[in-house]
Amino acid sequence: MKFSEEQQRRLGEIGASAEDVQADFPDEAQRNRAYQRLETRLTAAQQRRLAELRHGERRPFVLGLEERLAAALRGAGFLQVHTPIILSRVRLEKMGVFDGSIMEKQVFWLDAKHCLRPMLAPHLYEYMRDLGRVPERPLRLFEIGPCFRRETQGQRHASEFTMLNLVEMGLPEGTDLTARLRELGALVLDAAGIEGWRMADEDSTVYGETLDFVDADGMELASSALGPHPLDAAWGIRENWVGIGFGLERLTMAATHETSMAKVGRSLSYLDGIRLRL
Ligand code: ATP
Ligand code: MG
Repeated sequence: MKFSEEQQRRLGEIGASAEDVQADFPDEAQRNRAYQRLETRLTAAQQRRLAELRHGERRPFVLGLEERLAAALRGAGFLQVHTPIILSRVRLEKMGVFDGSIMEKQVFWLDAKHCLRPMLAPHLYEYMRDLGRVPERPLRLFEIGPCFRRETQGQRHASEFTMLNLVEMGLPEGTDLTARLRELGALVLDAAGIEGWRMADEDSTVYGETLDFVDADGMELASSALGPHPLDAAWGIRENWVGIGFGLERLTMAATHETSMAKVGRSLSYLDGIRLRL
């Protein structure tokens, strides 16, 4: 006999391994005793982790990651930009996201003309155009910040998450753009401490066919795009470019081997994967 659903949920929250959660017992009495032992041991382990966090790193992994990635990208010549979290409907539509489209159903609208940004790309397009007036090439930009999507939540999705979007525009003619995407992906994924990642073909509702970066378990870490692209005209962009959007919580899951988004993202129930209500 297995742990009850309630027991399984609680054990999952306090960091039991999948193997422990799925354990089998000859009868209910033995199962409940095993549950008590496991619960006590795991709760103590969570308390130790919390103490370590308070006296060691003093912040969750995802925040340290954000700082490390920003430093790595600035070191590689990328300019960090900081744009509004509120996005206009006009700009969202310039990304091809209209009434009734798949992405539009995921948008949190604030009023008829404004939403919480579901992606960083529209504001980066603005910067590409405006900073693109300076002749120096390539132009390298990135932003890290909150994005919002209505999702049927789950292990890999949250309605608020943190995106890192980088773009490099105006590469020398003849540059192998796919190879450049791989280099830039490697720059970020290596700085994040992720091993065993690879690139894979995907279909994107916004960009059409894209190349994704996935972790060893096949979880999508990032999607990339390259230009010239049909969306460019609306933004007045006429040069080649490569861009990648990473989810910082997904990178955290891949780097720390945490299996649930709820534990690594913004939360009132967990801090750095540690259950708070012990
Ligand atoms: P998925 O197919 O996994 O739902 P997506 O392809 O819709 O993701 P993109 O638009 O490619 O997502 O966004 C870039 C990255 O942002 C993703 O690769 C992922 O790492 C992250 N991301 C997207 N949506 C979410 C979400 N709801 N919660 C956490 N991270 C997300
Ligand atoms: Mg994607």
